[in-house]
Amino acid sequence: MSQLLDGKAVAKVLKEEIRVEIAQWKDKGVQPKLAVILVGDDPASVVYARSKQKVCEGIGMAFELFTMPTNTPEADILARIDVLNKAQDVHGIMIELPLPKGISKNTIMAAVRPDKDVDGVHPINRGYILSGQDGLFPATPLSCIELLIRSGVKIAGKHVVLVGRGETVGKPLVFLILKHDATVTICHSKTPDLGAFTRQADILIAAVGRAKMIKKDMVKPGAIVVDAGINEIPGGICGDVDFEAVQEIASLISPVPGGVGSLTTALVMRNVLKGIVLQGGTL
Ligand code: NDP
Repeated sequence: MSQLLDGKAVAKVLKEEIRVEIAQWKDKGVQPKLAVILVGDDPASVVYARSKQKVCEGIGMAFELFTMPTNTPEADILARIDVLNKAQDVHGIMIELPLPKGISKNTIMAAVRPDKDVDGVHPINRGYILSGQDGLFPATPLSCIELLIRSGVKIAGKHVVLVGRGETVGKPLVFLILKHDATVTICHSKTPDLGAFTRQADILIAAVGRAKMIKKDMVKPGAIVVDAGINEIPGGICGDVDFEAVQEIASLISPVPGGVGSLTTALVMRNVLKGIVLQGGTL
């Protein structure tokens, strides 16, 4: 029977560290602030924005939500981003996704100043992650790494098999894993005989978006399993890993909910603090 990679416990420690650092910035006369732009009324996005506000309030970070109607012209969103890019008191900017039809996600993402891009989606930050340079990186891939390290897992030298090469999770994660000196195998929808690859993993990471697709017979006994998937099922959510069965043979496994997803908001907040430094602030 495996032990849990406990995202909630790690998130608690992380939030406390961030709370302490925010207090230090405040002592220096800097009030860290996150600005969120929400275009339209997608119910999930409204919930996500509000939950970030709650976390900000809990750790002492200032938060401002800018809501814009669904039919807002792209130029108006860009104008709002421009104001926030220039605002001295705003250190991080997030655009809630999805954006309404007709708005170019790529144009909007590229308009945010790279050193305020706390979602790590600007082409410059994507370049930094690829080249191994420091920058602002996306929360979910960071969360997979943080969950492992803070649970005492040594990544260096391990064979990590990553299922999923999506732009949000899989692709950026490849480079974070490489930075931690693991050997990486990347699998995707065109990989024949997926199990032949996943069974080789010391650390198996699933970032696919298919409920419970990683079965027990696809996992090497004693492997460490990180589940980044979030899939809606009747009565709640589940991951990409068949948790009940796989936990019988994995040594460590992250649950869904309570795993990777538990850390992401805190990691966005940590990016805001990193942003202050990138913008020239010193503690
Ligand atoms: P994408 O849809 O962009 O990518 C999915 C990947 O899975 C693709 O590379 C695809 O392959 C691969 N794939 C699909 N079907 C199979 C299959 N049968 N066998 C092997 N590989 C397959 O997903 P994202 O990167 O956006 O997200 C991945 C997961 O992470 C989702 O479940 C999402 O909900 C979750 N997520 C979780 C977050 C969190 O906070 N925990 C935040 C963001 C996302 P191909 O490239 O060939 O199409």
